[in-house]
Amino acid sequence: MTETVQCEVHGESPKTYVCIHLKDESSGLGFNREDPSEENPFPDAWCDTCETVRAEYYGWDKVPDGLCNLALLCSECYERARTRHTRPSVTFDDLAGLRWKCSSCDEWHSGPCLDFGFSEPYYWTKDCDKASRLSNLVPRAVKKPSPTFLDLDYCSIKGESFFVRGLIRLPIIGAAEFFEWGVWGSLSQDNFETLLRMDKDPKRVELPPLFSWLSSQISDYPDTLSLKMYAHIQEPGIRPYFRLESTDHPLAQEYFHGIAPERVKEIMLRGLPAVEA
Ligand SMILES: [Zn+2]
Ligand SMILES: [Zn+2]
Ligand SMILES: [Zn+2]
Repeated sequence: MTETVQCEVHGESPKTYVCIHLKDESSGLGFNREDPSEENPFPDAWCDTCETVRAEYYGWDKVPDGLCNLALLCSECYERARTRHTRPSVTFDDLAGLRWKCSSCDEWHSGPCLDFGFSEPYYWTKDCDKASRLSNLVPRAVKKPSPTFLDLDYCSIKGESFFVRGLIRLPIIGAAEFFEWGVWGSLSQDNFETLLRMDKDPKRVELPPLFSWLSSQISDYPDTLSLKMYAHIQEPGIRPYFRLESTDHPLAQEYFHGIAPERVKEIMLRGLPAVEA
């Protein structure tokens, strides 16, 4: 049986050990370990500085006590540390020199562009647009919530399908930052109504994770519609975070194991009106 640890963030998970340097929120320190195996998927890991020490003493056995100290992590925190500290061939810092034209404000910005979003769910059609425009002609005072509407955060189609806008946050390999997809996820009618009612209520963070189907087609991946996920509701003013189901879909892989800076650059080249090095 694998030994477990109670993590404040991730609950009960397998115990893992990393050198103390890898434990805190720094990034890009290198991530060294023996190859993982089926019996030991999370072998002890250490940073590049500790690797120099190990090499100097020809292996861990001869390293004097106290020179390299290990810290306990849960297996999910270990994966997060691995993503943050692995050194990719194109690093996050390499993206700092990019300049790009922004599709929302039309200005030029510099550095990496870390969020791309969808203004409506995949299922929102021209007909929906028409229906919602018609209902906007009705004076507000006599208006019931219309069955078809779209705003910055919520969407209902014919009072039958319901969606909330949220974020899929991908940890960036070798960096502390996240790359964010602003996407739509479906909700049950009950959950949708609860969320609308609690839009400004601080207590909404206590809601359990809400089941959702991804309802945005992200063209940088194979079919993303109907990936299963859960909406984790944040405090008012912050969009929900979507937690994907763990599968071998490339988006789920990037969600759990990180996105390479090189991929971020690819997405920028494809998704922005103009990018210059
Ligand atoms: Zn270290
Ligand atoms: Zn943890
Ligand atoms: Zn802008």
